[in-house]
Formats: sequence, C-alpha cells, structure tokens
Amino acid sequence: DILQRVIHHVRQSSQSFSSTVASEDQRLAGQVAIITGGASGIGAATARLFTRQGARVVIADIQPLLGEKLLEELGPQAKYVECDVRKEEDVRRLVDTAYALEKRLDIYHSNAGIIGCVGPIDEIRMDEYDATLAVNLRAAVIGIKHAVRYMKPHRRGSIVITGSVASVMGGMGPHGYTIAKAGLLGLVKSCAAELGPFNIRVNMISPGRVSTPMSAFALSALAGRDSGSVPVVEDIDKLVPKSPVLPDKVLTDSDVANAALFLASDMGGYVSGHNLVLDGGRTAAQVLGA
Ligand code: NAD
Repeated sequence: DILQRVIHHVRQSSQSFSSTVASEDQRLAGQVAIITGGASGIGAATARLFTRQGARVVIADIQPLLGEKLLEELGPQAKYVECDVRKEEDVRRLVDTAYALEKRLDIYHSNAGIIGCVGPIDEIRMDEYDATLAVNLRAAVIGIKHAVRYMKPHRRGSIVITGSVASVMGGMGPHGYTIAKAGLLGLVKSCAAELGPFNIRVNMISPGRVSTPMSAFALSALAGRDSGSVPVVEDIDKLVPKSPVLPDKVLTDSDVANAALFLASDMGGYVSGHNLVLDGGRTAAQVLGA
C-alpha cells in the first residue's frame, strides 16, 4: 500500500513537472499580441518568438508582400493587417481586428520605426522632422490610446515600445530619430504611472545596432551617403563597432525579441515604466570612463 502511494505521488509530481515545463515553453499561450512594424527585422523576429510561445500574433505593417511571406512561415497563429501607424483610423481598425480574434488583447508592441530626417541641426528640414516624429513617437501614442480601450476593461495588458540606445545617448542616430526615441521614454513613464492601477504595464526595449534593412539605411545616412549606396544587411555586423565591454558579441534580432518577451509576458510581471537597454554594456562603460 505504501509502495502504491509512493508510485502515485511520483507520477503526480512528474505530471505537474512536465506541465510546468510546457508552460515555460508557452509563456504567451492563449494570448493575443499586436506587433507593429512586424513584417521585417526586429518585429518579424518578435513575431516568430511570440507565436512559438503560443500567442496569436497580429502583424501590422505597410509592406504586404513581406507580411504575407512571414504568414506562410508562421501559419494560422499569425495574421497580417495592413496598417499605417500614423493613421488613427488604421490603428483603431487594427486593434478592433486583433480583439475580435479571441475577445482579448494582451500585448501591444509598438515597434514600427524609420530613420527619417538626416543631416546637421542647422540644415534640418522641419517637414522631414515632423514626418520622423509621426512614425517614431506620435504613432506610439495612438497605439497606446487604442490598445487600452480593450486592456482597461479586462484589467490586464502589457505594452512594449521599441526605443533605441538613441533614447539615452546622442550620436547613435540622426536628430529627429534621437529626439523621438528619447520622447518615448517620457511616454512610457507617463503611461506606466497612469495605467498601473488597471494592471497594465508599459515598458521599452532600447537596442543598439541590429542587422536589419533599417540599420543598413541608417549607416549609410549617418555616413552622409545617398540611399544608392546602402550596405547589404548581412554586412552590418562587420561595419558596426563592437561594444568595448562585450567585444566578442553582436546583438541579434533574437536577443531583442527575447527582451520583448520578458517584458510582454508575466516573466516581467513586476516591471513597469522601465527602459531595458541592450547595448552590450556600452553606456555603463562610458559612465565609468572605460
Ligand atoms: P525594419 O526596417 O526591418 O522594420 C521596420 C518596420 O516598420 C518595417 O517593416 C516597416 O515597413 C515598418 N513601418 C515603417 N513605417 C511604418 C508605418 N508608418 N506604419 C506601419 N509600419 C511601418 O527595421 P528594424 O531595425 O527592425 O526596426 C524596428 C524598430 O527597432 C524600430 O522602431 C527601430 O527604430 C528600432 N531599432 C532598430 C535598431 C537597429 O539597429 N536595427 C536599433 C535600435 C532600435
């Protein structure tokens, strides 16, 4: 009889152990996530990870061909919605479409971005500057405004904004880009303070350079070259100086997706108003004078 009880106990423990392991592989099981700018680069890597983690992912972008190609890879768990994040009506429709899938919206990842206006401050063109802030800053405000329409009544939600190391230091991008990414920090803190009582967390990830079409364009823009000489994405890792703190490492889109998963999921359940900087220790080293 005692032996039977021991066998029963061991079986039960191993069952609960395997269900724990399964849930660790499926940190977003049953959840619905929107990823803007999800057809390419960091957004696409995040869409891959979030679907692997069990989420239904709605990819919002203005590149339907890339979006459809990604859907072929991700299968029925993913959906593409054509959405220009600068347009409030597009974002309203995006959020409504995502909510209609499962009658819930758990994650809004505001990730779409552009390099935008380039050049020295005394030559800055204000129309280009406004256009840069429209995608990189104003669109995040529109996104949060509409995402919380569904998150507040459910008293649940996680908002993750893609910033940049440019949010905390100059010289990492052109002026408009840097100003917009720093502005996102204010947005994150302001919304985290207001939305916490609704159990909605608001955070930011701020990566250094990652090989994507955008970074290829940024490198050529910073070097003052025209878009005709944009380096190929595969060469970015070779062109970007390594962090002196982690000289053997290169930041990948998967690293950034992992950081997004941490903040988006319950792993980051007590984190809000935070800017998670993925700079390989670069900014810390400069503070210490290394
Ligand atoms: P990417 O060009 O590969 O992806 C950006 C995506 O945003 C594209 O699919 C593009 O179509 C989409 N997009 C642009 N304007 C849009 C609009 N108006 N509406 C909807 N979608 C729009 O670039 P990425 O490097 O993956 O950039 C993603 C985010 O990461 C951006 O916010 C960028 O600022 C940030 N970031 C990138 C790097 C880097 O080195 N690549 C570093 C720091 C931060």
